[in-house]
Amino acid sequence: MGLFIYRCAGCGQSIRNTCAQCAAKIALCAQPHCDDAVVALSYVGLTRDLMLGFKYRNQRAVATMFAERMLATLRTIPETGRIDVVTWVPTTRERRVARGHDQAETLARIVGKSLGVPVRKLLVRETGGHQTGHSRAQRLVGVALRARLMSDPATVLVVDDVVTTGATMRMAKRALYLAGAARVVCIAVAATPAPARRR
Ligand SMILES: [Zn+2]
Repeated sequence: MGLFIYRCAGCGQSIRNTCAQCAAKIALCAQPHCDDAVVALSYVGLTRDLMLGFKYRNQRAVATMFAERMLATLRTIPETGRIDVVTWVPTTRERRVARGHDQAETLARIVGKSLGVPVRKLLVRETGGHQTGHSRAQRLVGVALRARLMSDPATVLVVDDVVTTGATMRMAKRALYLAGAARVVCIAVAATPAPARRR
């Protein structure tokens, strides 16, 4: 009891980080197309399993591995060198408390640190009176987000874990532009395969 046992989050073998075989399986998740965000991986197979595990248990090794995938993808777009601030799409307070962390914030903090850019909580969820869950219609349009007003027009990088319909990223972009952002770039670890996003 009380001993820390490190395991590969993919296959469970005793190793501190993701093992080479599992890392290779994740790399095989072809880069998906998404109009609303830059996306590193397809939300299938081992990537999906690891993401589900990461949501419910704050696994540093998995977070670091996903952040590295996002950073590799970011290096392919020209805006990356101009990012002033990194933020994230916040999860609900209830989920954050239940899970012990906000998975998008955890990812944003690693990405910001790697880029040498400050990480700030710029986006806030609108609760709008509904305390319990969302209607199907609300889920389809994504969460309602507003952004804190910015004093300087900055280039903002928004980090999220999984893109499904893209509506949340569009909402985040819109809120940040309304709050004075000069440019908004969205990045996600993974996107669900196309059919789920075409609804
Ligand atoms: Zn493994």
